[in-house]
Amino acid sequence: MESVKAVRGMRDLLPEELERWQSFEEKARQLLARYGYQEIRTPVVEEKGLFERSVGEQTDIVTKEMYTFLDRKGRKLALRPEGTASVVRAYLEANYFQKRKISRFWYLGPMFRYDRPQKGRYRQFYQLGVEVFGGQDPFFDVEVMALMFYLVNSSGVTDLTIHLNHLGCAQCQHNYLGVLQKFVRPRAGFLCCDCQRRLASNTLRIFDCKNERCAEVLEEAPLPGNYLCQVCQDRYEKVHTGLKALGLSVFEDKRLVRGLDYYTGTVFEAMTGRETNAVAAGGRYDTLTMALGGPAIPAVGFAIGLDRLMALCSETSSKLPVIRAIFLGEEARKRGFLLLEELRREGLRVETDYEERPLKNHLQTASREKVVWCLILGENELNREQFVIKNMETRRQYEISFNGAGQKVKELVC
Ligand code: ATP
Ligand code: MG
Repeated sequence: MESVKAVRGMRDLLPEELERWQSFEEKARQLLARYGYQEIRTPVVEEKGLFERSVGEQTDIVTKEMYTFLDRKGRKLALRPEGTASVVRAYLEANYFQKRKISRFWYLGPMFRYDRPQKGRYRQFYQLGVEVFGGQDPFFDVEVMALMFYLVNSSGVTDLTIHLNHLGCAQCQHNYLGVLQKFVRPRAGFLCCDCQRRLASNTLRIFDCKNERCAEVLEEAPLPGNYLCQVCQDRYEKVHTGLKALGLSVFEDKRLVRGLDYYTGTVFEAMTGRETNAVAAGGRYDTLTMALGGPAIPAVGFAIGLDRLMALCSETSSKLPVIRAIFLGEEARKRGFLLLEELRREGLRVETDYEERPLKNHLQTASREKVVWCLILGENELNREQFVIKNMETRRQYEISFNGAGQKVKELVC
C-alpha cells in the first residue's frame, strides 16, 4: 500500500528543528514583553469576507492564494492567509478602543496560502507579528521597526536592512494614482495579464509584480514618494531620522509598495544579505479599522516569516544535556524510578527505556544515539545509597550519593 505523505507545500517541523524555533520564541517573548506587547491568539478559520475587506479583493492573496470552503451551514470561510485582519477584527470585537488609548499585541501562528512551493515558500507557514493600535505618531512606526530588527537579531541573524517607503495618506494616494494611471495606460500592452487587470482596480500593485517586463515598464514611472503632502513628507522624515538615530541599517526603496491593500503611509520590508525574499514586512494601516466596520484608529504592524528566519540562522540552542538512566535489577528499577523524579524536580533532563538488559548493551545504545551522560544504578550502588554518572566521551565515572544528588549532578553535567 502506498504510504500517506504530507500535503504538497506543507511540512512537519520535527523536534530537532523545533529546538531552534523554541529557543528563538523564548527570546522573542521576553523582548516583546519588555516593549509592552501582549500576546493575542485568534482562530485559524475566519469569514472569507474578512480578508476580502482587508487584504483586498483584487490582491493575489485573495484572488489566487486563499484556502476557502463552505461549512455545513453554507458559511463562506477561509484559513487565514495572514494575521493582521484577524487581530483588527478581535480588537474591534473586544472594544479595546474604548478601554485603552494604545493597544499593543503580538501573535504567532500558522498562516495558509496557495503559493507555489519552493525554498522559503510553503502553503502552511508561520508568522510572528505585532500590531499597535491608537498611535499616529511616527515614533510608533520607529518602535515597531526597531522591535522587528531586534527580534530578527535575537535569532542570530544580524545582516538585516530595513527597506523603507511611504505610500502617503488617502489624499496623496488619490493624487498619485491619477498620475500613475496616466503614465501606465499607454504602455498597458507591455504588462502581464495580472497587471493589465490591476491597472483598473489596483494600479499601485504593478510595482509589486515579480515579472521583469512589468518592472521595465515602470522604470521611468512617477513614484509615490514624490507625490506626498507636507504632513506625509514630515512623517516620513521623522520615521527615517528615528531609525537612523537608533543606528539601524535603512535603505530608501522608492518602489516598495507591498502586496496587501490596507497599507497607508509607512511601508517596510526586512531584507538579509543572503536572500532575495524578505524575511519580514509591514507598515501603517490607518483606515483598516474603518474598512472592518469600526471607528478610525491609526495602526502599524509587521509580520516576520519564521520559516524563512529559521532557515537563515544556524545557531544551535543550548538545551539541557540528556542523561540516560540505566537500571540493573528490579530493585534498582523501583528506586531508580523515584530517583529520576527527584532529579527532574531539580531541573535536570533524565530519561530511560526501563529495559532489563546487560549494561554493555545499554552503553552501546547510548553511544550510538550520541548521549553524553549515563546514570547507572545497579544492586551494588543501591546498597550504598548511591549511583554512578558516566561521561561517555571521556569515559570518566563519578559516584554520587542519593542525598543531595540533584545539585551534585547539575554541577557535573550543566
Ligand atoms: P512574498 O513577496 O515573498 O510573497 P509577501 O509580501 O506575500 O511575501 P507578507 O504577506 O508581507 O509576504 O508576509 C510577511 C512575511 O511572511 C514575508 O516577508 C515572508 O517572510 C513570510 N511569508 C509570506 N508568504 C510565505 C510563504 N508562502 N512561505 C513562507 N513564508 C512566507
Ligand atoms: Mg506572497
